[in-house]
Amino acid sequence: MSKPKFQTVTGMHDILPQDQAYYEKIQEAAKKVFSFYDFEKIDTPILEDANLFIKSVGENTDIVEKEMFTLKTKGKDSLVLRPEGTASIMRAYLEHGFLSLPQPVRLWYYGPFFRYEKPQAGRYRQFNQFGVEIIGEADPIVDVQTILVMYSVLNDLGLKGLMVKVNSIGDDNCRPLYRKALVKYLREKKSGLCSDCQKRMKVNPLRVLDCKNEKCQEVLSSAPQSVDYLCEGCKKHLKDVLEYLDELKVPYCLDSRLVRGLDYYTRTVFEIESTKAGENTGGVLAGGGRYDNLSKMLGGGETPACGAAAGVERIIAEMKENKARVSFSSVPEIFFAQIGPLAKKKSLPILEDLRKAGIKVGEAFGKDALKAQLGKASRLGSKVVLILGQREALNNMILVRNMQTAKQVEVKQEDIIKEVKNILKEK
Ligand code: AMP
Repeated sequence: MSKPKFQTVTGMHDILPQDQAYYEKIQEAAKKVFSFYDFEKIDTPILEDANLFIKSVGENTDIVEKEMFTLKTKGKDSLVLRPEGTASIMRAYLEHGFLSLPQPVRLWYYGPFFRYEKPQAGRYRQFNQFGVEIIGEADPIVDVQTILVMYSVLNDLGLKGLMVKVNSIGDDNCRPLYRKALVKYLREKKSGLCSDCQKRMKVNPLRVLDCKNEKCQEVLSSAPQSVDYLCEGCKKHLKDVLEYLDELKVPYCLDSRLVRGLDYYTRTVFEIESTKAGENTGGVLAGGGRYDNLSKMLGGGETPACGAAAGVERIIAEMKENKARVSFSSVPEIFFAQIGPLAKKKSLPILEDLRKAGIKVGEAFGKDALKAQLGKASRLGSKVVLILGQREALNNMILVRNMQTAKQVEVKQEDIIKEVKNILKEK
């Protein structure tokens, strides 16, 4: 068969009906946990000013250097399809004066994000994320609350083998010292690094730490670790985070290589991965951290904050791997069949009455023969079939056939709902 003329563009996918239940289940699970913890939902536009991400995520990051879908408007503005959520939400926080609200402000979001990446399993150019931001609080307990809410959603979805990796990358006081020590070490080992890392070493040396290249991994095995360079404030912050984590039943480990590539992160960074990851997921399901400098980077004041995001498509791949049960649309227990033009004409209002009464009804309006309609009813497994023939349509009556007992009664159309509800109750 030849390929159809038009197809989805590289890295972008249709979400087909058979997968919708996964998306719904994930949104419901997220909403349930986030509402309990008093997060309010926010939606920001898909297009944002390119500078928003250049200033916050950072010029020398993969996202800004290689992955932004940028477009120029007719008015010559440079806009991007948002690659992540945090910068937009901090923009909204500053734009709408959320600073005057009781702090911290807790927000959550769900929606599509775009990165011009090389498409592969678990890595798409359009993907969905849900996430949380807690803005206006410096206490390390909110770092752990951020971890906890993300972990809880994944756990409630039935994912197994979850592991939280935590690290601290310090702040403006101590990170320059660590950076210096790391660069010194990497310079000495330069020839052992991949060509990408030789470049990264100059512009964003911390990124070298999460290079997956085996050669680089070997060099990094004895590299200096950020936790050894933390100032007193950052050390205390990390200690508190770990103590709060100890009180929870959340499996975690300290991972000195975890840096996360974006410029706005300070102190705590974390990722949640599935240790039982299937081939399709790539392991990391969610990530986040503290970003105490982001507000200032965007022209606001000192506003400490913390947040995280999770990738919906990777979670779905994991759910499928874990054979998680999701319920697809419910089977209609009632089926409506019509015979003859008059009955067909009267059908739509009757179905509408049943819908308003909350009764799900199947139909096959495109088919006129009763046999074909009953065939569909039995394929659907409907328990009751309502039959409206020419005679019933004239007399305002309808036949109600109980498919289990094969009993059939004629009732007034005005009594259909009562009758159907009785039969459904009897089952
Ligand atoms: P990040 O904003 O990079 O920390 O991403 C947060 C989460 O979104 C990751 O842990 C992934 O689960 C997911 N994610 C990030 N990039 C992609 C992508 N290109 N395709 C699919 N999921 C992604």
